[in-house]
Amino acid sequence: MAYEVLALKYRPKVFEDLVGQEAVTRTLTNAIQQDRIAHAFLFAGVRGVGKTTTARILAKALNCESGPTVRPCGTCAACEEIARGRSLDVLEIDGASNAGVEQVRELIDSARYAPSRDRFKIYIIDEVHMLSTAAFNALLKTLEEPPPTVKFIFATTEHHKIPDTILSRCQEHEFRTVAPGEIANQLRMIAKAEGIEITEGAIRTLARAASGSMRDGISALDQVIAASSEKIEEHDVTELLGLIERDVLRQTANALTGQDTASILKIVNELVRSGRDLRNFISALMQYFRDILVAKVAPEASELFELPDETAGLEKFAGELSEEDLLRALELLTQTEIALRSSPEPRFHVEVALLKLSQLRKLASFEDLLERFEALVAGEPPPPSSGSAPKPAAKPRVVAKPTKPKTEASPSPEAKAGPPPQATQDASAPDDWTARDDFPPLSEAEGEPSSDFMSQLIEQLKTAKPMLHAIVSRHTSYELDGNRLTLKFLSSQKVLAEQLEQKMLKDLLEEQASRLADRKLSVTVRVQENGASKDAPPPAPIETEDKSSEDLQERARRDPLVRQFIDTFQGEIQSVKKPEA
Ligand SMILES: [Zn+2]
Repeated sequence: MAYEVLALKYRPKVFEDLVGQEAVTRTLTNAIQQDRIAHAFLFAGVRGVGKTTTARILAKALNCESGPTVRPCGTCAACEEIARGRSLDVLEIDGASNAGVEQVRELIDSARYAPSRDRFKIYIIDEVHMLSTAAFNALLKTLEEPPPTVKFIFATTEHHKIPDTILSRCQEHEFRTVAPGEIANQLRMIAKAEGIEITEGAIRTLARAASGSMRDGISALDQVIAASSEKIEEHDVTELLGLIERDVLRQTANALTGQDTASILKIVNELVRSGRDLRNFISALMQYFRDILVAKVAPEASELFELPDETAGLEKFAGELSEEDLLRALELLTQTEIALRSSPEPRFHVEVALLKLSQLRKLASFEDLLERFEALVAGEPPPPSSGSAPKPAAKPRVVAKPTKPKTEASPSPEAKAGPPPQATQDASAPDDWTARDDFPPLSEAEGEPSSDFMSQLIEQLKTAKPMLHAIVSRHTSYELDGNRLTLKFLSSQKVLAEQLEQKMLKDLLEEQASRLADRKLSVTVRVQENGASKDAPPPAPIETEDKSSEDLQERARRDPLVRQFIDTFQGEIQSVKKPEA
């Protein structure tokens, strides 16, 4: 019998087989049971989490001879043809390759005709965000007055690129990344069914490497099975996928927290000697520190780890490092990862980064300095320097600032009443900056009330969910549009922002945000590429134009608080720029 790739062989065939997407399947099955089926669906989420698979199951559910049913039979002509991609009434279009407006026109034209045999004519458009504007416009005409026998199922990895006019006519479903534990369970089940001998360590390594994508996890299992003849061990997986063993990461973290320079250099030397990719090493180390951070601030998030013994190792480091240490370590590792992409001397970069990391705890944080300074100004005894004390708050980092950073506003009663607000506020620019006439406006939020939604949410998270607080307070701006809260992060905060894609953290954040808004909110995270978003206003050109920069410096120098700062710390103004989160 011909070999069938595992990802196809074990592709879910009914809703209940889908792993990790319970919210989506519940809504869809309820809609089918209550005969309240939308005309157009949008499945959004990262690659490999089951969007297209779900689209096919939904198509079968709608067109099965015994349907519409939540349990398509899988054996009737309609079900079989859909499974093989040969149904005349279910058309799959790849938005990435059919981006031209002509193909969409043809498609829309064919929507006018009745289904050739089955109940509905169903269009599945994958990567729908790739369609051209003209193609979207053509599509919109049909979506505005859909024939009763036509259904659209759109799938996308980039929800934010889809026009609002299309979004407003779709029932949206957000697909989550799948937890490593759930992927491990599935891989274990498949290995057993296939009679493959594989160790737990190998399963866990595969599940972690899948980064939330079930399909990637199963494909990787396929690869190791093909490459190994006997029992599959962890080192088979790490070798094949170019990964770094968990043990090496543990040793590295040990050397870093123990400030053991000799061991650090030895580890790097060993990695280079055995021909390992140092980029993979830094990525793996980032993941490891991320796990420590989760173990520290959200120990109840055990779902993020696969096995208790793994958590135990992490807890040791979680006890030794503060939250602020860990966030700074992640920032440093992110910078290193970026530097490595173009570095002809990766080894040098990695060694410097690790040596810096081992010294991180000796450096006082900017927040500490600022706190001490504020105490000095107020005439209070300064708080003791605590470079490694836990400190979840992240204030905007600035070179010089004309006034004190904005204090977070307390919740106001009127924020809970009335229609959904449409708000956009740049959190990186304290109100005081924009309120002053003699400074150029730095944010799109001029004139916004200071007791805005995000300030309240951040305040609420501070006590309720410190982990979320640590991440969310690093956002640069946000949009609250109807039931969707979009948080934007700079690319330098990518690794942190991505944590919010973890199902559990996102659920927690949505729960907290919904509680504050008094309605169900869904959260979307966007990382601005190259530090700029195309829909954000261009930064004020205060750093490039010498004349206005001097002017700004002069103004900053006249500010009493800045003068005091300079006097106290014997400093000088090097540049004045927009604060960055
Ligand atoms: Zn059927």
